[in-house]
Amino acid sequence: MKGWMDVPRATLFCETALPQLQRHLKERGIWVAAYSSGESVAVQWSTTQISQLVESLTAFLTQEWLVSYLQQQVYKHTTRDLWPELATQQVDYAVQLTVHGLSRQLAETLPPVRQVIPTLEQALTSLLAEQEDAILSVDAVIQFRARTFLQQAQVALQEVLRQLEEDQEYQAFVDHLREKLMAQPPSTQEVHVFCTDTQVWLCYPGGELVQDEEILRAAQWASDGSEVHPEDLAMSILITRSPPHIVIHDLTQSAPWPNFAETVERVFLQRASRCGHCSWCQDLEGGL
Ligand SMILES: [Zn+2]
Repeated sequence: MKGWMDVPRATLFCETALPQLQRHLKERGIWVAAYSSGESVAVQWSTTQISQLVESLTAFLTQEWLVSYLQQQVYKHTTRDLWPELATQQVDYAVQLTVHGLSRQLAETLPPVRQVIPTLEQALTSLLAEQEDAILSVDAVIQFRARTFLQQAQVALQEVLRQLEEDQEYQAFVDHLREKLMAQPPSTQEVHVFCTDTQVWLCYPGGELVQDEEILRAAQWASDGSEVHPEDLAMSILITRSPPHIVIHDLTQSAPWPNFAETVERVFLQRASRCGHCSWCQDLEGGL
């Protein structure tokens, strides 16, 4: 009969996410006791359970541990200074998006991320099986054995944060335009907006261009001494006229985000609609 000393044991240190590690292992039925120092957990397993323990630890490192690690990266280090405009909630959201993206990559087994699981499993198996009463830092296992993976995770997080900040700036711009629109008395005439990759122009339902005088007025309203961009001018005209309905003819092929048509939709909401590839669009496409 095997005695207490025959049962493999290990002491696991985890600076990044100890409570999560404890919960994770307990939920999977692996015997866990926390030491009073609060810095480590003790685990015991039967020799037949080693693969279950290794799988559990690997899953922990690529999920809960990774979330905590990325959050700490954003909050503790210089990264935080780069994104001062983002609230805590948004940072957490960015971390979740990043981890979700990486999980999807894991699921799709794209290199080199797919290499991280066998690498971690192999490292953990040898560290746990080769020593009696092993003492190991799970942070060190992932930080040393999967360094490239962590670097990729950080790059992915930076990209998600950058996009969030861009979205936030765009939303502030849309809100500003909506405020201006609310201050304008609405007119009665529908306006048609045509967008191509290089131009934006406005017509009345009969097809005649919006008059020069109005453009001039809108240009004065729009300019504060700086050069007026054609799209800014077109938006100023639309806001000044405040049409009850706008029909958008979007002929763009490769306009960068956010394109003018989308901005019109977000500013005018239900007052804007798409033409649905009308005969005008079909004629224009023939001539483009
Ligand atoms: Zn159309």
